[in-house]
Amino acid sequence: MPSKHPLPSYLHADSLGPWGSYLQQIDRVAPYLGSLSRWIETLKRPKRILIVDVPIKMDDGTTGHFEGYRVQHNTARGPAKGGVRYHQDVTLSEVMALSAWMSIKNAAVNMPYGGAKGGIRIDPRKFSRNELERVTRRYTSEIAIIIGPNIDIPASDVNTDEQVMAWMMDTYSMNIGQAATGVVTGKPVSLGGSLGRREATGRGIFTVGCEAAQHIGLDIASARVVVQGFGNVGGIAAKLFVDAGAKVVAVQDHTDTIYKPSGINVYALLEHVSAQGGITGFSGAESLANDDFWGIESDILIPAALESQINEQNASRIRTKIVIEGANGPTTPNADDILRENNILVIPDVIANAGGVTVSYFEWVQDFSSFFWTEDEINQRLKHVMREAFASVWQVAREHTVSIRTAAYIIACKRILMACEMRGLYP
Ligand code: GLU
Repeated sequence: MPSKHPLPSYLHADSLGPWGSYLQQIDRVAPYLGSLSRWIETLKRPKRILIVDVPIKMDDGTTGHFEGYRVQHNTARGPAKGGVRYHQDVTLSEVMALSAWMSIKNAAVNMPYGGAKGGIRIDPRKFSRNELERVTRRYTSEIAIIIGPNIDIPASDVNTDEQVMAWMMDTYSMNIGQAATGVVTGKPVSLGGSLGRREATGRGIFTVGCEAAQHIGLDIASARVVVQGFGNVGGIAAKLFVDAGAKVVAVQDHTDTIYKPSGINVYALLEHVSAQGGITGFSGAESLANDDFWGIESDILIPAALESQINEQNASRIRTKIVIEGANGPTTPNADDILRENNILVIPDVIANAGGVTVSYFEWVQDFSSFFWTEDEINQRLKHVMREAFASVWQVAREHTVSIRTAAYIIACKRILMACEMRGLYP
């Protein structure tokens, strides 16, 4: 039967891309929402989409034009919040999905935020530092009409770091004539950033990993871990697992796949990556064909790179006990089913990687109050939020006999849709 509320053409999930995955996830949760499900159409449409042209002067004197996006998916529970990524494959549909996952994530861990995401379709590795600064500043000016400390607060994401956040903060501040530290999070500590923010996502992954391991009787101290993506998320998570006694047996990034059954020296690899920009050329492990990565036996698999990495092509080859989603949307819905059939516990992105936005929230609160916390306080509070969130999803999953992902969506969607219901429809 045709829907009573046909979607605008750009919202159709006509491909198996991230937006299609998100819509499937929403359809899966709908039966568990009771009367609140009458508001569910709201979640299938982003509230606001801004597409901007980002023209900049290139170092060679030519003018480059780049495509930028900022999507605010939902703001029922508070200001929009979510990162900005720089990647050559960024598309509107991807940013839409990422913004929706931010709404779910923020609600799942009970941050007082809605969800947003932004991106620029560039390969930042091909840009000089000056070009990166210009593209960041022009993009920020173009989206300045919809961002602000109480409106929409961008943050770092794939290929955007503290320096990019500092440029965004400065550009916004120059335009309004005052220093607005709370407009972005993930800033340098010297500029109102928070201690512990850089490590927060990896730390959160480690915390939920320990909780999950305990529930299935896995000893972290003897666990074999494999990691895809060795940046701010995968690299830090790997280090924390190794510090707890685990072995990282394989790592894959955009440059290579490396394997060492007796355990890779993660500290040496982190140094190599910070000097070389990738894991390729690391002498402390053997290099494998990329596709072999998925068949490596492990206890914990952490996809911490991009979307749709675990899909129908490789899911049935995965031999692990727990998948902890460091990336956003790394598992397609069909692959999710395969993992579940194979008794693999999946800790979904919207819980697993929520440590980043949780400490972003702490940063924002510190900026507003101009009162800064110690790193220890931040880590303690982060651990508390992650453990509480994990305990809630675990309980809901058992109550309804559903996956942890569906449980997280039940909790999050109920919170968002309850806010929609209480606010009512304007006008
Ligand atoms: N980019 C991170 C994420 O995907 C952090 C977002 C934020 O701190 O606002 O969760």
